[in-house]
Amino acid sequence: ASVALLALSGCSSRTDAPASTGAAAGFAADSLIGVALPSKTSENWVLAGGLFESGLEKAGFKGDVQYAGASTIVKDQQDQISAMVTNGAKVIIVGAADGGQLSTQVKAAHDAGAVVIAYDRLILNTDSVDYYVAFDNFKVGELQGQALLDGLAAKGKGPHNIELFSGSSDDANSAVFFNGAMSVLQPKIDDGTLVVGSGQTDIKQTATAGWKAENAQSRMDSLLTSTYSDKSIDGVLSPNDTLARAIITSVKAAGKPIPVVTGQDSEVESVKSIMAGEQYSTINKDTRLLVAQAIKMVQQLQGGVEVEVNDTKSYDNGKKIVPSYLLPPVIVTKENAAKAYANDPTLEPLTK
Ligand code: BGC
Repeated sequence: ASVALLALSGCSSRTDAPASTGAAAGFAADSLIGVALPSKTSENWVLAGGLFESGLEKAGFKGDVQYAGASTIVKDQQDQISAMVTNGAKVIIVGAADGGQLSTQVKAAHDAGAVVIAYDRLILNTDSVDYYVAFDNFKVGELQGQALLDGLAAKGKGPHNIELFSGSSDDANSAVFFNGAMSVLQPKIDDGTLVVGSGQTDIKQTATAGWKAENAQSRMDSLLTSTYSDKSIDGVLSPNDTLARAIITSVKAAGKPIPVVTGQDSEVESVKSIMAGEQYSTINKDTRLLVAQAIKMVQQLQGGVEVEVNDTKSYDNGKKIVPSYLLPPVIVTKENAAKAYANDPTLEPLTK
């Protein structure tokens, strides 16, 4: 909760001017750099692994990129980080499978003199995380909430029936996305413009275990049966594209018109769905930029110069406010897709 709260309180007063913190001692240019990623719950993780491998190699480092397995995710990742420490990694970049269960491993990394960078997802309740590099997750949530309102406004004044979905509760991002979205949606729920038909507005009720499509689909199936047998569902807050498509599949199977559904990640199938007029929106968080920024941090550490960050107040992990480099997420609908993906050779052709 502290992550979310601080993300909330910090967002109004955030300064975007580059600031610097924590100079490092520097290390050999061909050092081992560990990258521990979670399981491949969405396309961005698949992309990130490949980009880290090629990018670290191009920069002259020895990269060791690992994914946590599907079934024993937490233990896998803990073991992978421990092995990176044993092998003498100078920097360990972590996309946490469960950000609350890595304190022992990142402390061991610190004790061995390695620098720990949290990538995309914050590592919680430990002093042993040095930097955070991510898209501004609170902003992602705000944009999702705003997209839902915009899509619904285009259909009329309301009241509009909506349902809310959030991500996996072991991912520190899930609460930040949800709180960002609710900062926009709650006033509209309070004034009656939006009606959450099921009454399920608590993050515990809306969570999607493991970010798994089948879990979102079955919750949507249940909601349609319990709440929407005699009325329309107009909008669904979905925290990412994988879940958005599962929600749309459920609605189609029930023979109902597709509501306004939000998303995130610019997954290929969702961009196609948006262009086909089904999914309403996604968020562009260009993985190429995020990986490049993480590698830039590694290079700054290697050279012993100060690591550039642009936010030192928003992301509290329960033990410290982690100096962060936050990139700006971009909202995408059918309207601006061609422009938003103009520099993306995979997505741009889909917008024609
Ligand atoms: C990432 C999202 C992604 C989700 C599921 C989150 O931590 O920020 O981009 O959709 O994990 O993989």
